[in-house]
Amino acid sequence: MSRRLDADIVVIGAGMVGAAVALALARQGYAVQLLDAAPPPVSPGTELDLRVVALAPSSARLLATLGVWPLAERERVAAYRAMHVWDAASGAALDFDAGLLDAQCLGWIVENRLLQWVLWQALLQAGVVLRSATQAVGHAVDTDGARVDLADGDSLRARLLLAADGRDSPLRQAAGIGVRGRDYGQRAVVAHLRSARPHAHTAWQRFLPGGPLALLPLADGRVSLVWSLPEAEAARMLALDEEDFAQAVGVASDFRLGPLQLRSTRAAFALRLALAERFDAPRLALLGDAAHAVHPLAGQGVNLGLRDVQELCDLLGAARRAGRDPGAATLLARYARRRRSSDARDAYSFDALARLFALQAAPVVAARGLGMRALQVMPALKRKLAQHAMGWPA
Ligand SMILES: Cc1cc2nc3c(=O)[nH]c(=O)nc-3n(C[C@H](O)[C@H](O)[C@H](O)COP(=O)(O)OP(=O)(O)OC[C@H]3O[C@@H](n4cnc5c(N)ncnc54)[C@H](O)[C@@H]3O)c2cc1C
Repeated sequence: MSRRLDADIVVIGAGMVGAAVALALARQGYAVQLLDAAPPPVSPGTELDLRVVALAPSSARLLATLGVWPLAERERVAAYRAMHVWDAASGAALDFDAGLLDAQCLGWIVENRLLQWVLWQALLQAGVVLRSATQAVGHAVDTDGARVDLADGDSLRARLLLAADGRDSPLRQAAGIGVRGRDYGQRAVVAHLRSARPHAHTAWQRFLPGGPLALLPLADGRVSLVWSLPEAEAARMLALDEEDFAQAVGVASDFRLGPLQLRSTRAAFALRLALAERFDAPRLALLGDAAHAVHPLAGQGVNLGLRDVQELCDLLGAARRAGRDPGAATLLARYARRRRSSDARDAYSFDALARLFALQAAPVVAARGLGMRALQVMPALKRKLAQHAMGWPA
């Protein structure tokens, strides 16, 4: 292995998490290269991306520190000020309002493509070496560096490799790190619809026996559907004609926003819980979905990933100021210890919620209804839950 270094840090995967960590580290003065198997993100254009995420204030704050949040806001993001969650089986409901926290909003609905695009523009300006359509196929480590091998036969050497290469993370697999979790046997059907009643800047979520259905407010007045369904049901929904599909969503959402019209294409994503057994290996750290893929019912996947970014950058920033090796095993172990315990707690809580709401036995439904009704009138506890979801310190 040659001793020449191509960068201090190479980030593999330029999704929202990989792009954010590459930008944050470049801003700290590290020489960073970012590579992704996919082509570069395209400009957001006029039609809203089918894939959106609910971003917590902690994520918006990180993106604001990186200077990209104002760019996203200027394009189009939709603040949501309230959340209404209800259980089809028990009829019980829970409401969260920004007023509970003296906040302007609980979070924002943002298109994935828009976020990736603003991050990419900032990366270009920051002078980060960007390699799109470049697939990592393996890596190797020695005492003072690590090498990532590329599909075109080239390789890059750095002090530290960061794997942000998604739920099926090839780098994680190559490092021999296993995952714990389960296949939900569900797919999340996504689409944008126009509703007869305004979305009222509220995130609506109904728990149904087959999985949760969410209607999230979009900047142009439409709502974004995220409907987790057993595989066969999801396939059936995708095959329905537009009117029957919109009617099915209306029935499943109890027509809370009135009749609906489909106003986009449809897509579906397989759902799996996948928690990496370790977040670190020699000169390698995992972050984002490569470390933890969670059920979308809590809208937290990328928010957890951006908390990984914050933690890693705090540690790497301190290492740089002290002139220490960014790939030092003690530093990576500290990152892994802190983030894995927090991410595991969240991943298993979302999993427990998915299991709880799937149960339909009468006594469980009754107990669940009682619990939700009790929580509805306990503002202090609701405030704690909302603070956690928003990424605020407890
Ligand atoms: C239906 C649905 C709804 C969701 N809603 C929310 C929500 O409301 N809020 C929220 O916080 N999260 C949500 N999530 C989760 C969120 O989308 C993910 O957590 C997030 O996209 C993960 O980002 P990432 O950058 O870690 O990984 P990814 O977005 O998967 O990016 C990984 C990147 O790595 C690249 N890559 C892979 N292999 C290689 C290789 N060998 N070499 C080079 N590059 C490679 C890929 O091309 C890709 O660009 C949702 C997910 C789904 C499915």
